[in-house]
Amino acid sequence: MKRDYYEVLGVSRDADLQQIKRAYRRLARELHPDANSADPDCEEKFKEATEAYEVLSDPEKRGVYDTYGHDGLRRGAGGAGGFGFDGFPGFGDLFENLFGSFGGGFTRTGPFGRTQTAGPARGEDLALDVELTLEEAAFGVEKEITFTAQGVCPVCEGVGTTEPASVKTCPECSGLGRVRTVRRTMLGQFVQTGPCTRCGGQGQVIESPCRECRGSGRVYAERKVKVQIPAGIDAGQRIRVSGRGGAGDRGAQAGDLYVRVHVAPHEVFERRGDDILCRADLTMVQAAVGTTVPVPTLDGEEEVTFAPGTQPGEVKVLRGRGVPHLHGHGRGDQEVHVRVLIPRDLDDQQRRMLQEFDGACGADHYSDRDEGVLQKIRNWLNG
Ligand SMILES: [Zn+2]
Ligand SMILES: [Zn+2]
Repeated sequence: MKRDYYEVLGVSRDADLQQIKRAYRRLARELHPDANSADPDCEEKFKEATEAYEVLSDPEKRGVYDTYGHDGLRRGAGGAGGFGFDGFPGFGDLFENLFGSFGGGFTRTGPFGRTQTAGPARGEDLALDVELTLEEAAFGVEKEITFTAQGVCPVCEGVGTTEPASVKTCPECSGLGRVRTVRRTMLGQFVQTGPCTRCGGQGQVIESPCRECRGSGRVYAERKVKVQIPAGIDAGQRIRVSGRGGAGDRGAQAGDLYVRVHVAPHEVFERRGDDILCRADLTMVQAAVGTTVPVPTLDGEEEVTFAPGTQPGEVKVLRGRGVPHLHGHGRGDQEVHVRVLIPRDLDDQQRRMLQEFDGACGADHYSDRDEGVLQKIRNWLNG
């Protein structure tokens, strides 16, 4: 007479999956045959607990068991041949799920390894670098990138053979793409599943593979891809070009191409976020009397007027002259930072003129009009 599965695991009938997992994990540690050779019944108990866990952790099987009991499972309600526990199907998978993989093999999502379907592998993702000028990054550009990658074989068009009839189910794994192997570890003997080496996990073998690609459906080739660089992109950002990475195995989905953006230093501009910084050099006299000078912007030179009495370090903001916002409307600003040039190597006459000028100036000509800022600095200096 079989024991009730809930009783075996010591959980209530409304236990959730977490409680069932915890209960089984605890029992498995206690009862594992290799960990507990003193108890002659432990192997039977371990099998019983494993069977109970396998049923109760699967909503479908659990539903059958709840409604029909052990008989329901034995009769195979819900599927031809029933669920059957002879030989413990999925035993190795169970252990991988509970205790983590022992290395190698696939990672699977569902319990018992049922969710992994064998098939051709997706193509690899590729990462490439592209260097842009600041202007290209600001306004966007189409760049053609040349690289070498796996592409679809032109001879067999990715099928792997020119004779479709020569594609056969793999005799090694019967088309599952996986084979079971027995591993001996410190904890005992485990059945583990791994990719089939005969077919590389694809479940199929080609008897007359394509000569060009030797059956892989892919060949390395130089490729050119045009990449649209959006306006406003900045250094360090990546653009994903979907499906332009390596070709997939025999017609499987291609990988993606990731283009990393680098921006070369600019002669006159510096970028800070979406703002552009540049410098305007004014002579001492221009700054004092005011002037209008051409200032470079991303849109070309622009005449910018500086008021009389412009001070070193003053910043003139040109609204909307910065970098366009990425994927948005509007642009950043341009900051023009003033540098005042002091003349060198004056001749006697020039020196006299300046000294004469200086004599005509009083302290009020040099007073700071922005009392607010001056007061702030004083306060700061005085702590
Ligand atoms: Zn080929
Ligand atoms: Zn195989």
